[in-house]
Amino acid sequence: MADMTNPYHIVQDQLRRAVANLKLDQEVYELLKSPMRLVEVSIPVRMDSGALRSFTGFRAQHTDAIGPTKGGIRFHPSVTADEVRGLSMWMTFKTAVMGLPYGGAKGGIVCDPAELSDAELEALSRGYIRRLEAVMGPELDIPAPDVNTSPRIMGWMLDEYDRVRGQNSPGFITGKPLVLGGSAGREAATGRGVVFSILEAMHRLGIDPHQASAAVQGFGNVGSHTARLLHAAGVRVVAVRDVNGGAFNPEGLDIPALLEHVARTRGVKGAPGSEDIDSESLLTLDVDVVVPAALENQVTEAIARRVRARIIAEAANGPTTPEGDHILDERNVFVIPDILCNAGGVTVSYFEWVQNSMGYYWSENEVNRKLRRSMVNAFDTVYRMHEEHGVFMREAAYLVAVHRVALAAEARGWIHSHPEAEVPSAPMQHMAPETVKT
Ligand code: NAD
Repeated sequence: MADMTNPYHIVQDQLRRAVANLKLDQEVYELLKSPMRLVEVSIPVRMDSGALRSFTGFRAQHTDAIGPTKGGIRFHPSVTADEVRGLSMWMTFKTAVMGLPYGGAKGGIVCDPAELSDAELEALSRGYIRRLEAVMGPELDIPAPDVNTSPRIMGWMLDEYDRVRGQNSPGFITGKPLVLGGSAGREAATGRGVVFSILEAMHRLGIDPHQASAAVQGFGNVGSHTARLLHAAGVRVVAVRDVNGGAFNPEGLDIPALLEHVARTRGVKGAPGSEDIDSESLLTLDVDVVVPAALENQVTEAIARRVRARIIAEAANGPTTPEGDHILDERNVFVIPDILCNAGGVTVSYFEWVQNSMGYYWSENEVNRKLRRSMVNAFDTVYRMHEEHGVFMREAAYLVAVHRVALAAEARGWIHSHPEAEVPSAPMQHMAPETVKT
């Protein structure tokens, strides 16, 4: 019996349904149901105490049908093989729905970075790359930041790769510091993409952003930039929450003051003019948009029954359980699915990798313009699928993504099926950018 809080089982189920809906051959499911490679490593670290401690790390590479695999690395105590397997598959479908020339990957280390000193964190980051560099590279598998990993960690990882290989390969990793070839606009890119997709959804649903309200769960990289940019777009952000507490003001939070408070205290709790709020209350607030931007499995069946928002924008990966999803569909809540909603990060990672290979860099305005074009274009493709085929937005995103991966697998001669389903077409990023709508 599949465990439906396990991301690997969830994404397999989503794949199975997309293959059936697209009337694709079962070979497509057989080919894509598991990552092509999963590596588990043990990383010894000399701790500050002098003791040796070994950490477990993983890297899952799902499929390279469309291009080299790509995906973040997370540092978290709850990382498991199945989690990275599932997340690597989501990355395949995310890059495919965006039309990026990549397949999916994900990595993780089982650790609590809050308990590690800087020196221990650096040793662990470098050790992870030494163990895995043989199966990684700019044309093979390209890592990036995820939960609890940062540009600083990407800088250490890049340096370790360069030292081991005896070369300088800025395109090995994305989300790195600007001075090492990072892209302008990368840090805020996921949140910016979330906001572009929310504004598109509001436009389709006839919601005026200046009359709208929002609540954001999670205030890390993704949640904080989402809240900041929603506020800048005129949306009233009434509640935010991180792992230690919340900030709620029905009149709207003063986001610039909140950001200063977070910079000072490292948490949102106690922000000026706010009261505390728990996650369940936040997710069920009477607002136009709820943005889960923390971890998986937050919108459960019970929460989904009580959601009052018109739009759920899935900034986190897998924030809705399959049961929750079913209820949201039944209740006609407009879900912007994770593989579309939070794809701004990997899109600007792609721009970073392109700039690295050219050795020529774009301004932040240029990156943001290109990101907007990509998000609007992908949203439009998925929305047309949703309208034309009468399917839920998540189903629509999977139909677009799985169809693209199946076409690539067929073109390589891996499968014999003929994916002829009627799918709204949109150019892949690397095929015809001048035809992409602005
Ligand atoms: P992060 O580590 O910067 O922030 C995570 C935030 O969630 C923190 O504020 C933390 O306090 C909060 N949080 C954790 N548990 C919580 C709980 N139980 N209740 C409320 N808040 C809680 O991570 P991030 O990079 O912002 O990633 C968040 C999500 O977005 C993850 O699902 C990640 O996979 C996804 N994502 C991130 C990126 C990216 O570019 N960083 C891209 C795509 C998707």
